[in-house]
Amino acid sequence: MPSGQAIHQVPGMYIGHIKIIIRGIAFTDYIDHSVQIDRNNQLLPMKSEPNIDVIVVGAGVAGLWAALTLRDAGKSVVILEANDRVGGRLKGGVLDGKSVDLGGQWVGKGQDHSYRVAERYGMDTYVTPTFGNNILELDGEIYTEENDPEVFERVVRSPYKVIEQWVEKIHRPGFWDSEDTLAWDRSTTESWLNQNIEDVQARAYLTTVIRGFFTKHPCQLSMLDFFSSFIEQTIDEELRINDGALQHCFKDGFFQLALHMAAELDQDELILQSPVRSVSQDSSSVTVVSDKITCKAQRVIITAPPPVATRIDFTPPLPFTKSGCMERMPMGSIIKCLIAYPTPFWRNQGYSGHGNLTSTITNAFQDITPPDYTGGILAGFIGGDTAMIWSDTTKQKRCDQVKADLASVFGRQAHTPQDYIENVWPLEPWIEGGYSCSSQPGSFSVFGDTLAHPCGRIHWAGTETAEINPGYVDGALRSSERAAKEVLACL
Ligand SMILES: Cc1cc2nc3c(=O)[nH]c(=O)nc-3n(C[C@H](O)[C@H](O)[C@H](O)COP(=O)(O)OP(=O)(O)OC[C@H]3O[C@@H](n4cnc5c(N)ncnc54)[C@H](O)[C@@H]3O)c2cc1C
Repeated sequence: MPSGQAIHQVPGMYIGHIKIIIRGIAFTDYIDHSVQIDRNNQLLPMKSEPNIDVIVVGAGVAGLWAALTLRDAGKSVVILEANDRVGGRLKGGVLDGKSVDLGGQWVGKGQDHSYRVAERYGMDTYVTPTFGNNILELDGEIYTEENDPEVFERVVRSPYKVIEQWVEKIHRPGFWDSEDTLAWDRSTTESWLNQNIEDVQARAYLTTVIRGFFTKHPCQLSMLDFFSSFIEQTIDEELRINDGALQHCFKDGFFQLALHMAAELDQDELILQSPVRSVSQDSSSVTVVSDKITCKAQRVIITAPPPVATRIDFTPPLPFTKSGCMERMPMGSIIKCLIAYPTPFWRNQGYSGHGNLTSTITNAFQDITPPDYTGGILAGFIGGDTAMIWSDTTKQKRCDQVKADLASVFGRQAHTPQDYIENVWPLEPWIEGGYSCSSQPGSFSVFGDTLAHPCGRIHWAGTETAEINPGYVDGALRSSERAAKEVLACL
């Protein structure tokens, strides 16, 4: 049953906890029955008027924005976050004294919500640097579009045209009701590549692009997922800097967006290090049990990544169309590595600092040097099955390998950076991957598009639930506005 299922009474909801009732709203504190605890583990007095309308699970951008949207509409909110920080898949780090993004970084064409919300906080962007030629490494040889146009035509442009022809089929009326959707959902992108892209190097190029962009090996990605990702923007636009999805970076980091949002909240509206363990609903309210507090509210919005959200104990249980769908959406795997050099030396060699590699563990890299940084910074991505394999090795080994990969393109200078930082997203607590998750082959045709459907008092946000730009921050923001609207219509 996709949505609006019968809401059952949940007797004995508070067994084991002490219930405190203030003006008809119940608070139950797991640890100390007379206090709440703030995000820094400090004790807070109980709120005098805890009229909680909505509990939000997760303080990534979707959760934070949903809470602020509801608060702007006059509703009371509490966000419960499992981690000790806000931002989720937006995460900051420091590289050679410079604030950098370890997670989401770029904003570009069609991502109006990201631009608009960032503008609210006065966040400045810079154009992603593109000085010189992009690089393509095939079988250990380095090619550039300027010097080797025929290689780029054969390996990049011509497969893009084939992909666009297949995406065209999705645009035809009746596609979603046709047998094609079932067949495409059950086929992997790897089998499509083998059958439709004859050139071995073109297949190797697309495989590395899929690892870096979808964070999965093509054998883990359904054809339907692959092609439907290019409905709004072509594959070229998705991977392009100028007038594409990678056009701008934020001067002080995209992660600042989450910090700005969190700063707008009152201290008792955001509780960190408090993973939500269970959600129970009955005909009058929903009760959310987390490690620090138990709250009762009218509605809950869950923004945890779908496979992570399945660990929450729901009473009554979620319909199988929901839980089964979420369980069959593994997170992608990505390791983001940032490496700082005394100078952007690749520019002197005529290279842009943007490249795709097929013979190394680094699938792609990009110059992200901010305008106020005196050296040069490259962001490298290890994706899909390679990220899975390299997640459990040491940071030193990964750093050495990334340096070797870059040296295979740019020469010896790449071996001597002045700083290195990385984030191994499969190991990130309560997120466990990135950039996002997608259905296993054969799942979408069984479960359909149920991810965003409310289940009684439970609403769903988060980038995976977005209709437009899922997987991006833009999608996360859109999803929270949709969920907030749903909730407001019910309150
Ligand atoms: C390496 C990387 C690069 C990326 N690059 C880009 C990019 O360039 N541009 C772009 O737009 N997007 C990019 N993305 C994707 C983007 O970061 C995400 O789409 C977006 O941040 C997701 O936000 P969200 O709020 O939906 O989910 P999340 O950020 O995952 O937030 C969910 C929150 O829920 C919390 N949580 C989980 N379980 C529980 C629980 N039981 N109780 C309480 N809290 C819980 C988690 O800790 C987390 O904080 C990238 C992501 C990664 C990892």
